[in-house]
Amino acid sequence: MTHDEGPQFENALIDRLGRVHTNLRLSVTDRCNIRCFYCMPAENVEYRPHEELLHYEEIVRFTRVATTVGINKLRITGGEPLVRRDLHTLIAELAKLPGIEDLALTTNGMLLGEQAELLKAAGLKRLNISLDTLREETFQRIARRPGVQQVLDGILEAQRVGFQQIRLNALAIAGLTEQDVVPLAEFSRSHGFELRFIEFMPLSAEDVWDSERVLTGKTLRRLLEEAFGPLVPAKRNDPHQPAVDYQFADGQGKIGLINPVSEPFCGNCNRLRLTAEGQIRNCLFATREWDARAILRGEADDDELRKLLRDCVAAKQPAHGIGADDFEKPQRAMYQIGG
Ligand code: SAM
Ligand code: SF4
Repeated sequence: MTHDEGPQFENALIDRLGRVHTNLRLSVTDRCNIRCFYCMPAENVEYRPHEELLHYEEIVRFTRVATTVGINKLRITGGEPLVRRDLHTLIAELAKLPGIEDLALTTNGMLLGEQAELLKAAGLKRLNISLDTLREETFQRIARRPGVQQVLDGILEAQRVGFQQIRLNALAIAGLTEQDVVPLAEFSRSHGFELRFIEFMPLSAEDVWDSERVLTGKTLRRLLEEAFGPLVPAKRNDPHQPAVDYQFADGQGKIGLINPVSEPFCGNCNRLRLTAEGQIRNCLFATREWDARAILRGEADDDELRKLLRDCVAAKQPAHGIGADDFEKPQRAMYQIGG
C-alpha cells in the first residue's frame, strides 16, 4: 500500500502493517509564549531543564542518520519552535542535509514578524501557522494571552518575505469556534492561504477534552457549505496527508478537514516524532518512547540510532484507538510531544 514512494531504501523504516516511514517531526522545545487551553496548563508549567533538550548538533546528527533509512520530509515543531534561540541556524543545517525534500515549520505565529525573513533565508520551505480565530476575545479565551493582531501581522510578513503555500491550521472546538469557521475561510481565501481545520484531540495537559467539545469535520463541512455552497473534493496529491481537501465551488481557494477523532487515518500514517529531549515516538498517542538522547550522548555509533529507529517503528500500533474502551491517554500533553 505504501511501498511505492521515494527512493527505495534497503533498510527503510517499514512497520508490521507495511507503512513506510518517511516523515519526521522534530520538536525543538517544550516552551511556549502562549498557553492554549487544549495543550498547556494555565500556569506553573513544568518545563524540561535546558540541559535535557537536544543541542542543535544532536538534532542534526539524528536527522542525518534518519535520512539514511528513508526519512525525506521534516517538520519543526514544539512547544513554540520560534522561542528556541537562533532557530534559523538549525534550519540552515537541516536544509543542507542530502535527501531532505521538504522542510516545514509549525508555529503559533507570535514571533513570525521578527523571524520570517531569517527563516526564509535559512532555507525553510513551508510554514503552517496555527490560527483558530480572528477575534481577540476568543483568541484570549484559547491562548490565555493577548495577540491575535500580532499573529496576523506575522502571517502577512511571512507572505511578504516570499513564503508560498502558507497554510493556516485552525483547531475547531465545539461551543467556542463555530462562529470563526466562515470568517477564517474568507480570510484565507482572500489572501491565498490554504486553511485546515483539525479536530480537538485528547492531548491537553489539563483534563479539558471531552468528545462533546470535538467540532467534527462533518459539522465543519456543513457550516462551510451553508456559507459557500458545495465543497468539491480535491485531488489527493499525497496519500499520507491526514487532511481531506476540498475546493470551494467558485474555484477560489482550498480547504482541508483533518478528522483524527471522527475518521482516524492511522492506516496511512508515515510519521515519526522526536521530542525536544530526544525521545523517539511512533505515534502522538504512544505510551512508550525510544531514547535517542542516550545514544547521541553516549559512545554508540550511528548504527545504534538506526536500530533504535527500526525498533520504534516495529512496535507501532495499528491505530490510536481514541474512543475505544481501553484507550489510554498518553502521559504527555501536546506541547511536550511536539504537535
Ligand atoms: N506552538 C506551535 C503551534 O501552536 O503551531 C507548534 C506546536 S503546537 C503543539 C502544533 C499544533 O498542535 C497546533 O496547530 C495546535 O493547534 C495543535 N494542538 C495542540 N493541542 C491540540 C489538541 N489537544 N488537539 C488537536 N490539536 C492540538
Ligand atoms: Fe503553545 Fe502551540 Fe501548545 Fe498553543 S498549541 S500552547 S501555541 S505549543
